[in-house]
Amino acid sequence: MRPDKKILRELLSTEGKENLQALYNKAYDVKKQYVGTTVYLRGLIELSNICSKNCYYCGIRSGNKELTRYQISYEEAIAEAKLCLQMHYGSIVIQAGEREDRTWIEFITKLIKGIKELSEGKLGITLSLGEQKLEVYQQWFEAGAHRYLLRIETSNKELYRSLHPVNHSFEKRLKCLNLIQECGYQVGTGVMIGLPGQTIDDLANDILFFYDLDVDMLGMGPFIPHHNTPLKYLAESFSPLEALTMGLKMIAACRIALKDINIASTTALQALHSEGREMGLKAGANVLMPNITDTKYREGYQLYEGKPGLNETALQFQKQLEKRIFALGETIGYDEWGDSKHYQKKKN
Ligand code: SAH
Ligand code: SF4
Repeated sequence: MRPDKKILRELLSTEGKENLQALYNKAYDVKKQYVGTTVYLRGLIELSNICSKNCYYCGIRSGNKELTRYQISYEEAIAEAKLCLQMHYGSIVIQAGEREDRTWIEFITKLIKGIKELSEGKLGITLSLGEQKLEVYQQWFEAGAHRYLLRIETSNKELYRSLHPVNHSFEKRLKCLNLIQECGYQVGTGVMIGLPGQTIDDLANDILFFYDLDVDMLGMGPFIPHHNTPLKYLAESFSPLEALTMGLKMIAACRIALKDINIASTTALQALHSEGREMGLKAGANVLMPNITDTKYREGYQLYEGKPGLNETALQFQKQLEKRIFALGETIGYDEWGDSKHYQKKKN
């Protein structure tokens, strides 16, 4: 049933410690009932910070001239995928700035095939490589990728426009989400929470947008200002606690409304609180995306300020993560793709 907007607005307007706890508990009950308490891990490779776009909020936008640009080589990326396999993460996520040139398209195709081969098909492959043409999405799907993450950023067209240069188009982004679905990928989208000018009404509409698009996965996180972007002026009034709380409320409302989809507890939550990601799991998320990018590149992939884990290797992180997840009374779906129950239901 399509979620009721009035109820969504109420959930998102929850205030006060006790009421918030009740909201998170309710979402946790829905999570337990519909998707269980197994956390699925996806190793995240931040393949390159080269980006042809210039989104006003993002630290790796093309207009940031202070950044040294990098691209991880094929061999290094393959080594990271092997690490992912060794650590028994069932899936890998390949994320980067947006590029549409042939060299890049072929590089990604080769990499997808390489990862499939080295893991004998065991590692699931998710892409987060922005807006592309149908043929490109198809080519990557045929090479072996099966999930795609493309955040709509906000479902409010006007707000979208205010956050992007005129040559970036909301309509095109939406069209891309449809193309991705058409190709057969499991589709993930999401929004930033706490954008300048964003209202509770917008966030409620975002949840309705996710429902109408029939998404399989969500990756959402608080907007965090970056000093080298046009939105840097928001840093002064930025409240990490408020941003964190709004992020958690949104996760909880999405779990309650959308029930059986996969929801990621994103790094942006951890940037705001050392236990932000665990809080995300307690508020209804069931997926984590540990960063497996070689630490030497991490400085270069600061989409927002204060991104955590700059010097922490993937192996160090895994030990800690296991402990933290077990402490919550949850288990880890090692070696599993962990497709969303929502997707499995559609397939059957
Ligand atoms: N270039 C691709 C993937 C990398 S960007 C794309 O744009 O789809 C991944 C996500 O980082 C974006 O979708 C955006 O939601 C998020 N992001 C960028 N800047 C951010 C900021 N300042 N605060 C929080 N999230 C941000
Ligand atoms: Fe590029 Fe993505 Fe950042 Fe936009 S959000 S500037 S497309 S990396």
